Amino acid sequence: MPELPEVENIAMGLRQSILGRPIDKVACFSPVIIKGSRSEQWQSFLATFAGRSITSVTRRAKRLILATTDQRALVFQLGMTGKFLLKQRSDDRHKHTHLVFSFPGDQELHYVDTRRFGRLWLFDCLDPQHPDAAMEAEGMGSLGPEALRLTSNRFHALLDSQRSIKTLLLDQTRLTGLGNIYADESLFASGIHPARSSRRIGSEEATTLLRQIKGVLRRAIRAGGTTFSDFENAYGDIGRFRKRLKVYGRQGEPCRSCGGPIERIVLAGRGTHICPRCQPQDP
Ligand SMILES: [Zn+2]
Repeated sequence: MPELPEVENIAMGLRQSILGRPIDKVACFSPVIIKGSRSEQWQSFLATFAGRSITSVTRRAKRLILATTDQRALVFQLGMTGKFLLKQRSDDRHKHTHLVFSFPGDQELHYVDTRRFGRLWLFDCLDPQHPDAAMEAEGMGSLGPEALRLTSNRFHALLDSQRSIKTLLLDQTRLTGLGNIYADESLFASGIHPARSSRRIGSEEATTLLRQIKGVLRRAIRAGGTTFSDFENAYGDIGRFRKRLKVYGRQGEPCRSCGGPIERIVLAGRGTHICPRCQPQDP
């Protein structure tokens, strides 16, 4: 499932490839992926993109926002396997291509989603810099602040909860941007056991954790994200962060700090990877 660094890389790829280019046509082959109050009028909505161009590609949490200058917007939630691929008109079309942007010449941008958990919302008016209120009004749920923009004080205040720190880090209404991979990596880098109560994380530990969260996310963005099976950006590049993971997916392998075996436990229903020596439950 794409997390923040992967969605950020998809956004960067789209900025390089389609920003400001006039669109000939947007065709949808799977209207079932379109949600929200404008889903019934998807044909007339998409028709308005002819002759316009996407002037902004932004990310909010794991959502990707493609907007025009007059704030007409497409908001993608990529699900497990949603991705964009640059193609030529003559190329074979993937079986699970749901949306195609055609550009003058013969270039196309395909939105492909094999497992079909991805969703698309249509907005007549959405400010890509401040999209939250419009997205909430469409029933997309509320989002916490971006992990990369949080201050230590605000982060520490967010930790006032009896829930485990891992559960809290994954709660997108508290803070956004961390999924399973980067939550495990950030907790390991901070020496914090994921089952510890959030409320019992001290302010110094909270500062360390936030610094590690930002560091892990930034390194993962620079490495192009993490690819396990499916993720690639619009140019077909896969993420290179996988080989730099320290705990996620490394159960049974030696810890890169202490040499002890990495363990996989289940916490709040999620596979969770820890080094029991480096992340003591009762520090
Ligand atoms: Zn260790």
